[in-house]
Amino acid sequence: MGLPLIDIDRELAPLRDELLKAVARVLDHGHFVHGPECQEFEQRVAELCRAKHAVGCASGSDALLLALMALQVGPGDEVIVPSFTFFATASCVVRLGARPVFVDVDPNTYCLEPRAVADAITPATKGVIPVHLFGQCAPMKPLRQLAKRHQLFLLEDAAQAIGARYQGELAGSLGTAACFSFYPTKNLGGCGDGGLITTSDAALAERLVLLRSHGMQPRYVHQAVGINSRLDTIQAALLNVKLSYLEHWSHQRRRNAERYHDLFHEARLDQIVQLPTEAKDCHHVWNQFTIRVPERRDALRQHLTDAHIGTEIYYPLPLHRQPCFASQVADDQQLPETDRAAEQALSLPIFPALTEWEQRMVVSQIGRYFHGSRSRSGKAA
Ligand SMILES: *Cc1c(COP(=O)(O)O)cnc(C)c1O
Repeated sequence: MGLPLIDIDRELAPLRDELLKAVARVLDHGHFVHGPECQEFEQRVAELCRAKHAVGCASGSDALLLALMALQVGPGDEVIVPSFTFFATASCVVRLGARPVFVDVDPNTYCLEPRAVADAITPATKGVIPVHLFGQCAPMKPLRQLAKRHQLFLLEDAAQAIGARYQGELAGSLGTAACFSFYPTKNLGGCGDGGLITTSDAALAERLVLLRSHGMQPRYVHQAVGINSRLDTIQAALLNVKLSYLEHWSHQRRRNAERYHDLFHEARLDQIVQLPTEAKDCHHVWNQFTIRVPERRDALRQHLTDAHIGTEIYYPLPLHRQPCFASQVADDQQLPETDRAAEQALSLPIFPALTEWEQRMVVSQIGRYFHGSRSRSGKAA
């Protein structure tokens, strides 16, 4: 039936009994909100990320919003963000009445370009949200130096990067705080929505706990105007099951990425499309395998769709061009690398259970598109 971009059934099927048992335990004890599975999950993610605290919430988007609320971002503040990212990285800033300042990305990693960040800093800048895009950490060392010099917070958007490392340190422990998402397509995907914030700042963690429950402490006394954003106990129970497999899945994603590199090279396609690379200092966890197609990307995508191979464009319209942010962006704002990435990026299947045979099929279809039958006879040789 063709190859989807991501096959969640293949991930869930072997875990079905374990997942059902975990749900049954929650049904039996009945603590559906902030039950024991929630604390267990928070503690395990904190340990995994080498952060002191972890606070669960309803989604990655809420994690970003809560973190900015806890960091007291508000009107008059500027927060530097990439434009080449998912919407939630910037919407949280706007929701709080602050201004997102969009900057360009590195053409090889698609992560924030530190020099562009430095140029965007003004007296109103309160912080930076580096996104660990596609599973690879942003260049945190130069960003930390900037943050320190200008007294800015660094909020990692690690939604796509649980388990990723930078200079041996884990995503989630690299900034002031970090946000994770358990949306089903992420490397640790739940069965629905979920999110979490890590931090090693005890006061910040305490504020996050307050803010996710209407600022209520004690019961029916509200210390702050928070929101209602919780990670359900059932969701935490499911995530606890899946968390035990995360390291294995990351390993499989890395093997798949390596295999694509070999196959594209063998087919002499690595000169025609640009393959994603692992930056020095980085341990990539490959949430996406995103190639760059210099010309006619959409025609290649159509060819793959016709061959029943699922692909996606992350992201076709950069945030500085979104209609809802028009009033936030200067008319003369130029982000050439971001625009080029939006025109050329194409994400291929990389999910853990992807087989070598399927990867060969993807590469051979791309070869067929570029070389006609030449690559097919090459393959048979
Ligand atoms: C998925 C994602 C989010 C938002 O997470 P949700 O759980 O879907 O709300 C934020 N930032 C990035 C980079 C993401 O990929």
